[in-house]
Amino acid sequence: MTHLERLCGARSEYADGTESRGVYLTFDDGPDPHCTPDVLDVLAEHRVPATFFVIGMFAVDQPNLIRRMIAEGHEVANHTMTHPDLSRCKLAVVQHEIQTASKAIRMACPKAALRYMRAPYGMWTEEVLIASARAGLATLHWSVDPRDWSCPGVEAIVDAVLASVRPGAIVLLHDGCPPDELRRANHARLRDQTVSALCQLIPALHDRGFSIRPLPQPH
Ligand SMILES: [Zn+2]
Repeated sequence: MTHLERLCGARSEYADGTESRGVYLTFDDGPDPHCTPDVLDVLAEHRVPATFFVIGMFAVDQPNLIRRMIAEGHEVANHTMTHPDLSRCKLAVVQHEIQTASKAIRMACPKAALRYMRAPYGMWTEEVLIASARAGLATLHWSVDPRDWSCPGVEAIVDAVLASVRPGAIVLLHDGCPPDELRRANHARLRDQTVSALCQLIPALHDRGFSIRPLPQPH
């Protein structure tokens, strides 16, 4: 366990101590009708798997995208129903957020094998850990954060990932935007930088000997 994992109680990387150079791509805050199809297209073109931490209320609106994620071999995971700051929520509310999101994902795609949960903003609290365990979900943080949500430029996103990636890394990217930020955003082009960065990142990671993999079985 890393220092961060002891601190927040959620796994932030999956290094297995072998020669293996597996890394894991994760996308938060979708599914989004404008951004997610582009991300899925790039992943399909390069034949690499990813995990999508989806917001339940968006899954209700975009069940076809949830089904497409699963059909194309990706994992769908729980990022709560409405994306609140869970550190401000009582246990009952945290449980409701997690359970209703799981229900929304299963409604969209009964085949979805739900294994992981990620707290909005990485706000891991005792209540979040308890509620996730009760919902049968392992908690997953990240180890590489290029802050793509802030649109720092394609090169900045690519460079930030390549500067800090190492075997077992969990990379945090975004294929959507939390509901309360959506109104302020130029929606259609919201994740253009992420999509362009992804086109460069996948071959760059392969060139460096990394293998982009599905998340392992939680333990
Ligand atoms: Zn989020």
